[in-house]
Amino acid sequence: MNREEIIRWLKENDQERLTQLWHWADTTRAQFVGDEVYLRGLVELSNHCVRLCAYCGLRAPNRNIARYRMTAAEVLDCARQAVAFGYGTLVLQAGEDLGITRAGMADLIRKIKEETPLAVTLSLGERTEDELQAWREAGADRYLLRFETSNRTLYDRLHPPRPDTPSDRLALLRQIRQLGYEVGSGMMIGLPGQTFDDVAGDIEAFRELELDMIGVGPFLAHPDTPLGDPAHPSSLPADEQVPPTELMTYKVIALTRLACPRANIPSTTALATLNRHQGRELGLKRGANIVMPNLTPARYRVHYEIYPNKACIQETADACSTCMEWRIRGIGRSLGAGRGDSPNFQCRQPEAVTE
Ligand code: SAM
Ligand code: SF4
Repeated sequence: MNREEIIRWLKENDQERLTQLWHWADTTRAQFVGDEVYLRGLVELSNHCVRLCAYCGLRAPNRNIARYRMTAAEVLDCARQAVAFGYGTLVLQAGEDLGITRAGMADLIRKIKEETPLAVTLSLGERTEDELQAWREAGADRYLLRFETSNRTLYDRLHPPRPDTPSDRLALLRQIRQLGYEVGSGMMIGLPGQTFDDVAGDIEAFRELELDMIGVGPFLAHPDTPLGDPAHPSSLPADEQVPPTELMTYKVIALTRLACPRANIPSTTALATLNRHQGRELGLKRGANIVMPNLTPARYRVHYEIYPNKACIQETADACSTCMEWRIRGIGRSLGAGRGDSPNFQCRQPEAVTE
């Protein structure tokens, strides 16, 4: 698929053609990554953040959320729960929190790896090479860092750099790969100012970066952010602006599966927020093969508000686990056992441990 074809699909509204696209994505998913859906237990370990991202409720200037940072003991409890629920991976996600130190995090990773067979995925924002290396040496397996949009001008506008430190997530992703991590990235769909050409460019970038994991989800406006301000000027005419809709999200998931057949692709919580009833399932039926049940203790989870009305915010970890299993079995798919490493990564590194 070239860029023009991707754009045509993004603008496609004919029901029959779209049914064809869903079918094509689903058969590609079955052929390359199989019918198993892997569960990744998500721990939102801190909502402190030094950044000013114009889209995110965790941005530093937002005074309307109570900030928290989980203790190592609390995270270890979540890791034990992940094992008890049969998950193969623990995803440790946070704002860009400088209170998460190189040594403290390395120690926590080592403890998780000593005590459990879990693969550990980190999603802690833009950290120094020194930190990334220390965490890899401590045993972290994967790193998730969405490039958010491949349109550099839009990126700079929505994701200002920290003082004296340029922000180049694409360069950082290459560094992360060199350190031996499985590499994940992704983007938001419908960012104000994002064109169809931009989204097609994002999908091409996924292919060029040969990503192991690709997370795409709709942009959901948060009222306490610049993009959530009703007075925020729209920079594009309506017919050029990509809408942050459920349908557009399915199109991007399906096209991503076709562009990167071996990648692990989650059906995200942001999608489930747009359609609580069936969003997860439809994502899984249109190209995705991963879900991320939330393990964050409920008292913290409500404060990890990157966007409002997040799905699954009130559920206990137990309820989340049962609900995900029920949804996966409900569409005739099976639960993946073990770590669920990306087939992409396995192709690159045949010696990788896969259980
Ligand atoms: N701080 C780390 C980072 O930025 O990579 C990890 C946590 S951050 C909350 C995880 C992802 O949330 C971001 O990469 C972004 O794509 C997504 N996100 C942030 N604000 C969002 C919003 N308003 N709507 C949808 N997704 C959002
Ligand atoms: Fe911080 Fe990540 Fe949110 Fe940006 S997207 S404000 S880095 S938590």
